[in-house]
Formats: sequence, C-alpha cells, structure tokens
Amino acid sequence: MENTDLESLKTSALNAIAKASTMDEITLVRNEYLAKKSPLMALLGKMKDLDPSERAEYGARVNSAKGEISNALDAKVKILEAKELRAKLESEKIDLTLPGTSEEQGARNPFYVVKDEITEIFLGMGYEVAEGPEVESDHFNFELLNIPKDHPARDMQDSFYIDDNTLLRTHTSPVQARTMQAKKGQPIKVICPGKVYRRDDDDATHSHQFAQIEGLLIDKDVNLGHLKATLELFVKKMYGEKRQIRLRSSYFPFTEPSVEVDVSCAECGGKGCSVCKGTGWIEILGGGMVHPNVLTMSGYDPKVYQGFAFGIGIERVAMLRYGIEDIRRIYQNDLRFLDQFKKR
Ligand SMILES: [Zn+2]
Repeated sequence: MENTDLESLKTSALNAIAKASTMDEITLVRNEYLAKKSPLMALLGKMKDLDPSERAEYGARVNSAKGEISNALDAKVKILEAKELRAKLESEKIDLTLPGTSEEQGARNPFYVVKDEITEIFLGMGYEVAEGPEVESDHFNFELLNIPKDHPARDMQDSFYIDDNTLLRTHTSPVQARTMQAKKGQPIKVICPGKVYRRDDDDATHSHQFAQIEGLLIDKDVNLGHLKATLELFVKKMYGEKRQIRLRSSYFPFTEPSVEVDVSCAECGGKGCSVCKGTGWIEILGGGMVHPNVLTMSGYDPKVYQGFAFGIGIERVAMLRYGIEDIRRIYQNDLRFLDQFKKR
C-alpha cells in the first residue's frame, strides 16, 4: 500500500475533526474513521498480504495514524464539552434587567402596634411582663380583688361563667393577685397585658372581648405622686411631650383612693373640640393606690407596703391614636381597614 493513501486518509480525518462543531458530528467522524469497517481498519487488514519483512513497519505507521486521529477526536470532545457548558451557563444566567414580581406587603393590626408600644414604654421603666389564665376562678377574679360575692361591682362586670366558680376573666387584675401571691411579700413591678371578657352589648365603643394592660407596683413608701409621675411619663411617650394629664377621683373596689386619668386633647390642644366633646380632655385609663384589703389578702402588710395599680384599654388607645370610630373594626380583619395601616 502506498504511503499517500494513509497520509490522505489521516489528513481528511483531521480536517473533518477540525470542522466538527457538535458532539453528534464528532460521533459521525469517529464512526467514519475508526469503526471496524472504516478504510483505516481496512488498511490494517491488508497487513496479512504483505511480505513479513514489511509488516512491522507498515503496522506501526497505520497505528500511529490511528493514534493521531484518536487523540485529535478526544481533544475536540473536550473543547466541545467546555463550549456546551459555557452556553448552558450563559443561558441560565439571571437577567437583572427583567422586571421582578412584587409581593404584596401586609400591615400589622393597629391593636398589636399599640400593645407592643405600650409594653415597650413600661419595659423601659423597669417593669416586667406577667401573664395569667383567661379562664379564671371567682377567687382570683373577684374575691382577692376586694369584690366579695355580694358586691355590686360584680354587676358591672357580669361575665361568661363556665360554672359557679369559674369564668372568663373580666379584667387582667387576677394576674396581679397571682403575682402578689407568687412574690410572697417582696416588691413588685409588673404589667399584665391580655384579653378580658364582659357581658357587654357590642356597639361602636363596647365589645364582649377586649384587651387591657394593667400595671402593678408594690414597694415601701409608695404614694399617689408616684402613680401620677409614672402615668405622666407614659402619656408623654405615647402621645407626645406636649400632652398633660389630670386625675379625677373615682371608684374601684381594689384601689383606694381611685382615679380616672384624662389626657389633654391632641386635636385642639385643650380648647375643646368634637374629639374631646368640648372638654379639652380625653379619658384614657383608671388607676389608684392598691386597697389595703387587697394587700392583706395576698400577704402584704399595708403598714409597710403600699402600691399603685392602673389599667389601660389597648383598643381605646388604638382608637384614639388612629381615629378609629368603631371598636369592632379591630377584630374583623377586613383588608380594606388593615391596608390603611401599611408603612406606619
Ligand atoms: Zn379636643
């Protein structure tokens, strides 16, 4: 066989490999030049027709050509694989110029915004948060708070009874009683946020379920001035530095003396407007000095320890803050209502 046959075969194979631009084309080239019935293999098959003295040299030349073609194929496979990988990465690249899909951002219920804010203010004054059960015994809900069985104050809170001695708590004050019993005569500084229940007819300003944050401080030498200063600080942080408070005498069974606390109207600055019903003041909470009977029943000597307590209606604060006219809006989870509190 002529040298030129082998050379031209090798050249045409290497050209075909150089031209191949896909893996499929490479497979075709490999089949054409290296398969069993390929011309190159046919050249090897001719070896048996040669004179034995020529066979070794001939075989070496054919094998060398076969090796060169095979190496060229392998090298091209590597190049094409890298090219395919690059194309794949390119096609999967994130296009930052495409417009994104936006998520609808929700809004917190104003109730929780206000509850957290009030809690933060008192935590800042060194109060701890105390919690208690919503299903409460008559003993903790009434008796220990100086509201015995025949007391008319029960009528104002007449509530949801589970049995004769168990009811849904009508205020968060039982948490105060529980805290006093747990502290066994030690000083106390707690707030008790939570849900309470009363047999109120539901209307724009009343709900059978609402929430309070009550505060209780017990220590030696505590007086009404401490209560006033505490509430003044709370009001200024909650409603602004210019707000003032005034205390009006009132009555609660568990405090003596008892006070209603008004804040100066933010709308008119005290001159009188429709928000404050012409008085210049808005009632926001009640409080007073812990009744000696309450102290005694929970193991504190009223001659040594005094305390003050106050109760804030969370919904009322939220309604005043945001101008909400109907308390029921706070519980209805109506998106048209809640959407108004976005980005506050
Ligand atoms: Zn006003």
